Amino acid sequence: MNQKTYSVVPGLNMGLFSPKELAEIVAVINKYHVPMTKITSAQRLGLLGMEEEEQARLKAELKPLTRPVAVNGVHYVQACPGSQWCKYGTSDSLALGRRLEQLSFAEPLPGKVKIGVSGCRMSCTEPYVRDVGIFATKKGWTLLFGGNGGGNPRLGEIVAEGLSDDQVVELVEKCLRFYQDNAKFKSRTARFMERIGIDALRKGVLSEPLGVSADPR
Ligand code: SF4
Repeated sequence: MNQKTYSVVPGLNMGLFSPKELAEIVAVINKYHVPMTKITSAQRLGLLGMEEEEQARLKAELKPLTRPVAVNGVHYVQACPGSQWCKYGTSDSLALGRRLEQLSFAEPLPGKVKIGVSGCRMSCTEPYVRDVGIFATKKGWTLLFGGNGGGNPRLGEIVAEGLSDDQVVELVEKCLRFYQDNAKFKSRTARFMERIGIDALRKGVLSEPLGVSADPR
């Protein structure tokens, strides 16, 4: 066994499974005798120690349980249980996460984009250190941009607050288009924001009013 093989199954619903789905996933894992599995920090499923060919077959079998990954979209979306499942949640982070997973662009984004969505200020998905971070308050969603939790960390900065579901999706898309149009190839959002500054981003994405919320708060 090659101890160093490591493969990740994408599109796994932000780490959320019904007991039935989980039983089906475990059955496939057992069928292929996967030596070890890991829930990754991105809320995906890591398969450790498998041969490459077997990994491909296992992934194909799990495909009905996964969602398609958007073309030229974000690297991943993490979401906490939110108001559906957590007593502290004031907004539905899972529903918003699903919408954000669908964002796709005609051209690739300049660098990896990770999104963290939290259903309250406690920010369990660490939105301040994600490229796009979102957390809920009683007034609506707060959107942060340009965070990074890696070796050269940076806190994201607030782009706007008190946003509805529709407004935050629209604004995330605008921020990513602005990033796509203005960042150098391979520049992550943190380095991009250090170069251009939050005022330039706000000017670029907030020059026109956002769509009116269909979701009164
Ligand atoms: S961020 Fe808030 S709503 Fe989400 S899991 Fe943490 S405490 Fe619950």
